[in-house]
Amino acid sequence: MKIIDKIGSRLDVSYFKKSGHADISSILNWKGVVLLDDRDNKVDLARCYMQELQKLSCGVCTPCMIGTSVASDILEHICNGQAILKDLDRLRNQCDWILSSSKCTVGNMGPLAVTELIDDFKQDFENAIISKEFIPRGDYIAHSTAPCINGCPSKLDIPDWIERVRDGRFEDALESARRSTPLPGILGRTCFHPCQDNCRRANVDGTIQICLIRRFAADSVFYSDIKPKFAIKSNGIKVAIIGSGPAGLSCAYYLRLMGYKPVIFEALPVLGGMMTVGIPKYRLPQEFLDKEIGYTLSTGIDYKLNQRLGRDFTVQDLFEQDFKTVFIAVGAHRGQNIGLPGSDDNLKGFYDGVKFLRDVALGNKIDIGDKVIIEGGGNVAVDCCRTAIRLGCKEVIVVYRRSKEQMPAALYEIDTAVKEGVRFDFLTNPVSIVQEDGVVKGVECIKIKLGGIDKSGRRSPIEMPGTNFNMECDSFIMAVGQVPDLDFLKDLPQIKTANRDRIIVADKFTHMTDMPGVFVGGDILTGPLSIVDSNRDGKNAARRMDQYIRTGTFEPTDDCLFEYLFEEIGVYDKKEVIDYTDFPEGNPAAKQVEEPVETRIDNFKEVDKGLTSDDVIYEATRCMRCYFLMLVKFEERSGIKKINTKYFYYKY
Ligand code: SF4
Ligand code: SF4
Repeated sequence: MKIIDKIGSRLDVSYFKKSGHADISSILNWKGVVLLDDRDNKVDLARCYMQELQKLSCGVCTPCMIGTSVASDILEHICNGQAILKDLDRLRNQCDWILSSSKCTVGNMGPLAVTELIDDFKQDFENAIISKEFIPRGDYIAHSTAPCINGCPSKLDIPDWIERVRDGRFEDALESARRSTPLPGILGRTCFHPCQDNCRRANVDGTIQICLIRRFAADSVFYSDIKPKFAIKSNGIKVAIIGSGPAGLSCAYYLRLMGYKPVIFEALPVLGGMMTVGIPKYRLPQEFLDKEIGYTLSTGIDYKLNQRLGRDFTVQDLFEQDFKTVFIAVGAHRGQNIGLPGSDDNLKGFYDGVKFLRDVALGNKIDIGDKVIIEGGGNVAVDCCRTAIRLGCKEVIVVYRRSKEQMPAALYEIDTAVKEGVRFDFLTNPVSIVQEDGVVKGVECIKIKLGGIDKSGRRSPIEMPGTNFNMECDSFIMAVGQVPDLDFLKDLPQIKTANRDRIIVADKFTHMTDMPGVFVGGDILTGPLSIVDSNRDGKNAARRMDQYIRTGTFEPTDDCLFEYLFEEIGVYDKKEVIDYTDFPEGNPAAKQVEEPVETRIDNFKEVDKGLTSDDVIYEATRCMRCYFLMLVKFEERSGIKKINTKYFYYKY
């Protein structure tokens, strides 16, 4: 028997067993079989796996559609004592036919686990046929994933909606994506797309442009003003969501789909959190933001603006107003101050990066002069410099203490900023702000050399004594990180913080804090992350809040177990050699259209225009539909609860 690796010994499923769930005895997946308990019936394993595989078959190609059906029937006959020995050869042949002739990964990898069982345990199959004994069905759950799905923090069913786009069913595609996020179009524009870093097509001729495909679908649909087509049965239970960023909106949306009455409390005069006041409009146009947030709210979500937790209301007030649970996701809207001399002097011309972007987004009056220096290496710093260019600054310089390769900002953003006229001074670090009569006049900097690897895994910056020099400027923007404003916690002594008061402590699985009924998510739980990470937190917290309200307790669901197993086993294999002969000449990814530099740098017009419709269809056709199936069998022990299946499934 080929045990695919030593995974059995490194799996720790104790978390999932804490509510009395059974031990895992076998796992079948796209790589083969892991038998943790050799007593498991191999024929039953093969039957259940093949039947689950049949459900994944989309029916487009005959070998997969017919083959999985015939193979399932043969296995069912063996288990019912109705097969003859010849059926075993038929079964093996069906598997070979599916493997060799199917169009997508469901067929051309799916049956491997079954062929492995037949080849390695032929005697067991023959004995089952000869004895004609009835084989009872074991206790299984199954789940599919794909490398791209597993790479996406919010687990969007990417191959599913790509297929719908390929067929021109854009609204359907968005509905599919919305099972995992209420913000599919916004993510299509702004996500840093870890899914694409996990796309198997990269092993052939280049990753699929997943983000841009979804963006196209969203644009096609949203500009025709669609409304939700599904009805929600309200349960009348009020839940409070504090913060309307991606975590808050996502939590509100999924609670609403479950029938709750969410009310969002937002401190700012606008909805959207960092999506509205942190991402410049040339990356995410307001019109589109309004459309997608509007769609989300139109499911029946209420909201109140200019309501700051701790100033205008308390968590206690909410419980007294009969809100059953509270989800806090106020984001990280305060610029980090690293103690640069002059930064606390309230100087005219000094800005923190987050506030600068917020002021521009809210249309507040801002005058940064002709020459601005920005300190930082992350995406906020790059957003600040590109915004400064658009505000009419003649000279925009980013100073960063490490090298370009070590900048946390996306490379594409850095290169785009350079094209727009931004200068990057690497290996340069500000040591103080030069001021005169309360006004910024420049920055004193020092030259840096790189030393050994530090805790961040990058080479450490070392100041070079005697290399200090001054740079003149009208404004200085410090964009070296952002932290949450947790002042509201003074009213909530039960809730603990960590990481020098930068995050709130909560159970990583349930999202609940030490104060019963109060949940947290997004940047205040993890530190600043991306929109898609916050979206995941909001969605997961919604499930836990629902469980908590209904049962007063929490139980892990099968989704959590599979998420853990997929993570542990690994889904995308960079080294996999894929023999994909449909496009022998290669079929490289399409490129998106850009607004020319000359017509974009004096305004906030959207820069990236996405793909043309022809390119979108071309890209969607390149997708190999890499669904991988995993089946988990549990030990058969009486009185053991099975993990909930299909717990979080919505029918639109
Ligand atoms: S949300 Fe981001 S990671 Fe997920 S599918 Fe979309 S682009 Fe990829
Ligand atoms: S080819 Fe398609 S299904 Fe496969 S990993 Fe890439 S996007 Fe996902």
